[in-house]
Amino acid sequence: MMAKGNPTAGSMLNKNDLIVIAGAGGFIAGALARYFHEQGFTRIRAVDKKPLPQWYQRTPGTECLCMDLQYEDNCKRACEGAVEVYNLAADMGGMGFIERFRIECLRSILINTHMIEAAYRAGAQRYFFSSSACAYNTELQKDPNCRALKESDAYPAMAERGYGWEKLMSEMFCQEYWAERGLWTAIARFHNVYGPFGTWDGGREKAPAAICRKVIEAKDTGADQIVIWGTGRQTRSFMYIDDCVQGIDMITHCERLIATPINLGSSQLISINDLVSLAEGIGGITLKRKYDMEAPTGVAGRNSDNTFIQEVLGWQPSTPFEVGLKKTYDWIKTQYMDRKAGKRTVS
Ligand code: NAD
Repeated sequence: MMAKGNPTAGSMLNKNDLIVIAGAGGFIAGALARYFHEQGFTRIRAVDKKPLPQWYQRTPGTECLCMDLQYEDNCKRACEGAVEVYNLAADMGGMGFIERFRIECLRSILINTHMIEAAYRAGAQRYFFSSSACAYNTELQKDPNCRALKESDAYPAMAERGYGWEKLMSEMFCQEYWAERGLWTAIARFHNVYGPFGTWDGGREKAPAAICRKVIEAKDTGADQIVIWGTGRQTRSFMYIDDCVQGIDMITHCERLIATPINLGSSQLISINDLVSLAEGIGGITLKRKYDMEAPTGVAGRNSDNTFIQEVLGWQPSTPFEVGLKKTYDWIKTQYMDRKAGKRTVS
């Protein structure tokens, strides 16, 4: 639930102000477009490089554009007339993707570089950038029981190679556009986001979706085993999508947070082994566990320290993981069955 009293788009904009959302063919930006539509905004421009039929969700009444935002001209077109710009476009995925395709991750710097300049030139009032917990110093994440990461832990910098460094550099762009040119920028460092309409197969999916899919698959095929990447003792926190979009709105409109990176994540730490147990519980099945020690696993432990967001907004993501995972599991199950039936699905 949104904390009362915080400024939001609803309280600061006119309902016909143009909101531009980059990456809207994907998971989080797709949910953000829906969220603003539900808040009553009538002019939402959603942009993604994916062809429209491949978008995870399309909100009725939004202008949907298929454009590659690595190119300056496309960014100019995307930002024309924008009052607010939300940049969530990035070439990204779970650990399996970001450890293997570092160049693709780094090249996302082109998107933010051109989008922020285009937003500035278009006279946008606010610019939001989706950063990541992967921007944090990896030296602090070597133990599954590591302390939660606070905002100051990004420096001295030793970010995740590729993906994390791109996020750090793009954060710096946002900070300097405010310092030198007075563009109101907002930066949230997301910790793993999950929920319906997220990638659940194909190599870019993250742990909650991957584990749900594996349990559903095992049930369907009669397999008695599940493959887990690494020891399963690695820990993470996972934020439900509804908390994420509300957090983006409040962070973007908070004056104290201009050009100030802030954690947007759950502080409910859970090991991958416990995540598997939860998914098994939802599926009503117990599987033998096979640990793949060659698979990419990322850092040993990572949690979000929510002291700062709680202090500034009087709010933090609070959907219990068990509740969000059940909704996600049910959605992936429907997707899985739809795909089996030959219907078109997400990912
Ligand atoms: P996603 O992959 O579902 O969505 C990203 C979208 O960006 C995709 O639809 C993709 O086609 C689009 N895109 C990529 N390159 C583009 C380009 N050149 N031009 C236009 N569109 C392009 O990912 P998501 O989970 O929705 O993530 C959104 C943002 O949040 C990303 O910046 C990501 O790095 C960040 N983030 C996500 C998580 C998470 O757990 N999902 C965690 C930390 C940070």
